[in-house]
Amino acid sequence: MSPIELNKRQEEILRIVKGNGPITGEQIAERLSLTRATLRPDLAILTMAGFLDARPRVGYFYSGKKPGQDVAVTMNKMKVKDFQSIPVVVREDMSVYDAISQMFLEDVGTLFVVDKKSCLTGVLSRKDLLRTSLGGQNLAAMPVHIIMTRMPNITYCLKTDSLIQAAKRLINQQIDALPVVQEHEDGFKVVGRLTKTNITKAFLSLSENHEL
Ligand code: ADP
Repeated sequence: MSPIELNKRQEEILRIVKGNGPITGEQIAERLSLTRATLRPDLAILTMAGFLDARPRVGYFYSGKKPGQDVAVTMNKMKVKDFQSIPVVVREDMSVYDAISQMFLEDVGTLFVVDKKSCLTGVLSRKDLLRTSLGGQNLAAMPVHIIMTRMPNITYCLKTDSLIQAAKRLINQQIDALPVVQEHEDGFKVVGRLTKTNITKAFLSLSENHEL
């Protein structure tokens, strides 16, 4: 059994909850002058490792339990929704030129492509765009739907999937990112982006004294 070691911020959260619980995530964030989104991974770790309990509409409180869970058990409880990033989405008729600009502007390595109903139809990676730009065609006149990887060949995940499941998909398919989707009547809406960086951050959050 390898007990989880906490980073400074997690220790601080634990102190706040011990002294003030039950307390909401927003209130904890306020006390630390941070956003709720920044705290989400820390709160997820503390809850999953058994330091804190969370009740809907009540907030977080100190569980009093002695954490001694195996790291693997905690890892299996880590969910995509706790570590996902904001997706960057473009329309099918956007030009390859504009998609390249968008990738730089948004500082991401993968763009998700959607149709008029905002449903997922494709994925564009850095190399998809690089390959196309080597072809000598007019990139401003070429829509991305010609070069994207398209449905139904897109590997995706759900908010509620475990991070382990998502990591396995990234490795098995040899890709850098998964769209986090929600099923709708017209198809899949893109609600997040799960990348190798998110997995790396989750991995680090299990280690001691690491600031996320
Ligand atoms: P890069 O091509 O820059 O190395 P990736 O390894 O993520 O980046 O992409 C490799 C190929 O897989 C690309 O052609 C890309 O369109 C495709 N791809 C990327 N992500 C996905 C995904 N989630 N589902 C299906 N195909 C994907």
